[in-house]
This record gives sequence, C-alpha cells and structure tokens, in this order.
Amino acid sequence: QAKALGKNQFRIFDPKLAERQELRIRLQTELDIALKEEQFEVYYQPKICLNSNTLLEAEALVRWKHPLRGLISPLEFIPLAEETGQIHELGAYVFRSTCQFINELNTTLDKPVRIAVNVSVKQLLKESITQDFFDIIDTVGIKPNQIELELTESAVMENIVEARKAISAFQNRGINIALDDFGTGYSSLSYLAKLTINTLKIDREFIKDIPESEESKAICRSIISLAHSLGKSVVAEGIETEEQLAFLKQLNCDIAQGYYFAKPMNKEDYINFCKTQKTES
Ligand code: C2E
Ligand code: MG
Ligand code: MG
Ligand code: MG
Repeated sequence: QAKALGKNQFRIFDPKLAERQELRIRLQTELDIALKEEQFEVYYQPKICLNSNTLLEAEALVRWKHPLRGLISPLEFIPLAEETGQIHELGAYVFRSTCQFINELNTTLDKPVRIAVNVSVKQLLKESITQDFFDIIDTVGIKPNQIELELTESAVMENIVEARKAISAFQNRGINIALDDFGTGYSSLSYLAKLTINTLKIDREFIKDIPESEESKAICRSIISLAHSLGKSVVAEGIETEEQLAFLKQLNCDIAQGYYFAKPMNKEDYINFCKTQKTES
C-alpha cells in the first residue's frame, strides 16, 4: 500500500493516523499543563503478606485527573511520557508524593510503613536518577528502606547494563527492587540469576485464568519455585478471587495484591484501611 502511494506520500491522507497524531500532540501539551497544575494524584494499593495474613506494604499508582477528560489511566499516559521525556518530571512527582505520604504515615500510624513506586527504565537511563531519589528521601526525612522500586522485566532486560548499575546503587542504600510484570517479558535466565533484585511480581496475565487454566497454574508454580530457588520473594498481582488466593497460598507465594483485598485508593482511604489492619511488626 505504501508503494502504491509512491514515495513521500505514504499515509499522508490517513485521517485516522492524523487524528491519532493530533491527539498525541494535544496530550503531550496537556501533560505539561497537568505537571504544572498538579492534576496527578497517587493512589495506593495494599500488598498482603500471605504467611501472616497481614498488611505488608502498598504500591503507588498514579492517576491523571484531567479537568475535561476525567480520570485517565496510566496505561495511556505513561508510555507517552516515556516517549516525550516527561516521565522524568512525572516520575519525580510520584516519588516525592510517595515519600511525603510515607512521612505522614510514620507520624499517624506508629507502625512500620513501606511503599513501592513504579519506575520506568527510561528514568534509570538518566545518570542522576539515584542521587535525585536519595535527595528526595533525605529532604522528606524518611528511611530508604521504606521505599521499594518496581521495574518492569522487559525494560530491565533491554537495558541490562544501565539497569544493573542503578539497581545496585539503590540497594546499597537499602532500597529493595522488584521485577514487575514478570513472565510477560523475555528474560534471560542467566541475567535473572545475576540480577540482585529482591522480588519477582507475577503478572496478572497468569493469575486471571486461575483456577481454570492449567497453563497459568503451571507458570505460577514455575515462577514461584524459580524465585525461591534464587532466594527472591514473590508477589502475585491481580488476585480477585478466593480460589486464586488459595492456589497461591498452597504454593507458598509470599505476597498478594489485588481487588480481592482492596483496589488502589486515595491517601485518606489508605490511612483508614491501615487503621483497620494488623501489620507485621
Ligand atoms: P503495574 O505496576 O503492573 O500495576 C498493577 C496494575 O494492576 C494497576 O493498574 C492496578 O490498579 C491493577 N490491578 C491491581 N489489582 C488488580 C485486580 O485485582 N484486577 C485488575 N483487573 N487489575 C488490578 P493501573 O493503576 O492502571 O496501572 C497500570 C500500569 O501503569 C502499572 O502496572 C504500571 O506499569 C504503570 N504505572 C502506574 N503508575 C505508575 C507510575 O507512577 N510510574 C510508572 N513508571 N508507571 C506507572
Ligand atoms: Mg507495579
Ligand atoms: Mg505489575
Ligand atoms: Mg502488570
């Protein structure tokens, strides 16, 4: 089709593409405004320790409260922000907000608190990222071990050299690292064994069809056994049913997260949730 149109005319008159490009440019401009006007809000979703049935920590998940379009999913604007470079400013905002929230929880809860932040590997490629994060931690005044970082498997494997460098710098300060969406990327097992990451997060893709899917169950079994053999802990994300929970408990999965326990919630709701929960002390 491109050839039929001739050189340089490829797709110029595709109205759908033009529309999409226009929307992209508009969103990019609107992202800038949103960053200035702080239209973002960080939500928090509990992670439960399966051994003790207690609240272990939370995952920070950003939402864009667009004044006209309403709530926009991170799946829509994170990839765009990664492409445009806006992820650096957005990522710093999410990280700072989370540190400030941890600080607030430290005084209101009087219990140990930890929150995991999703970090795009694009952010890790910035030389100053580790120092930038340490500065925020120190300025806010929380302990580094109250922060965990989630990095997606595929992005880490594609940038293994830079990722390893940043991972060990973070870990040297006591920050745990989790490999997110595990199983959906293309992991070299030899890289995985050499990576010092602390935790594997099984992607919801392999949880959602349990108990029906034998394949999903086999994959979960393998990931959990692989993680434990390598001395890493395992989180299952997207737990929605009692059966899924029972299956993962039976496999000695360490941590679970999903709508079955709680959906991501705003700060106020998370504080109230914490108050009703026992925590591991
Ligand atoms: P993720 O890190 O794998 O986060 C888990 C996603 O699964 C979240 O979607 C969460 O709301 C959703 N989830 C949790 N439990 C359940 C469940 O039981 N059922 C279902 N159907 N979904 C569940 P969310 O909040 O839309 O975030 C999507 C992705 O966007 C995240 O996937 C993460 O990759 C990215 N993301 C979110 N916040 C940030 C951020 O601050 N920075 C970066 N770089 N990425 C972020
Ligand atoms: Mg995550
Ligand atoms: Mg995940
Ligand atoms: Mg996922």
